[in-house]
Amino acid sequence: MKIALISDIHANIEALEAVLSDIKSRKVDEILCLGDIVGYGANPNECIELVKKSCSLVLLGNHDAAAVGLLSTQHFNIHAKIAIEWTTDNLKKWGHDYLATLPLKEAKFSHTFVHATPYEPNMWYYITSLEEAAFNFQFFETPFCFVGHTHIPIIIVLEQEKEVYVHPGESLDYGALANVRFLINEGSVGQPRDRNPKSCYGIIDTDAKTFTYHRVAYDVQKAQAKMRKIKMPEFLITRLEEGR
Ligand code: ZN
Repeated sequence: MKIALISDIHANIEALEAVLSDIKSRKVDEILCLGDIVGYGANPNECIELVKKSCSLVLLGNHDAAAVGLLSTQHFNIHAKIAIEWTTDNLKKWGHDYLATLPLKEAKFSHTFVHATPYEPNMWYYITSLEEAAFNFQFFETPFCFVGHTHIPIIIVLEQEKEVYVHPGESLDYGALANVRFLINEGSVGQPRDRNPKSCYGIIDTDAKTFTYHRVAYDVQKAQAKMRKIKMPEFLITRLEEGR
């Protein structure tokens, strides 16, 4: 079975359409979305509609939660706050109602899926170190846990339930590995932050026993022009072309 994992779309419809068309060419069985459909970009309703239509599991992200009033923006930076205010004002009622029903964490196909962290997913903690990753391995029992939230693609391995390290490279062949578990961030579709402006997503192939990242070019300038039109902060606009 081939499962595509997408996350952190952030209302960037140009990026989402490019990624979905790339996924289509790879004949996957299911597409799962790990949250943050909205916030930052100019097309929240269009992105919700397309995710709803394309994905068999959709999780709640912190920007989705904030846009529908389930989370205060007090800990958001000023740019994110402005983007959330615009999003809240421009969400259609059906979009608002849909986001408000999304789950925080799910187990499916014997994997765990969550936007932020398996530990207290409603606290929106970030995994930015091996220590934080090691801590989080205690809060899921499946071989794999997929997360989003940081917008940085990374594969973290726990070996023999004690050694934690980062797997090098853009693909993982796990068939030959024994007694390992994985915490994988599939990167961001709509606002990559690893200095590569191309959209990022992942595919796990449970027959071939591989996980691979895919990078997809999209019309960044078109997404930026729309953001300028609705007066999004310039920082949010330029970061798309820089991938940061
Ligand atoms: Zn995000």
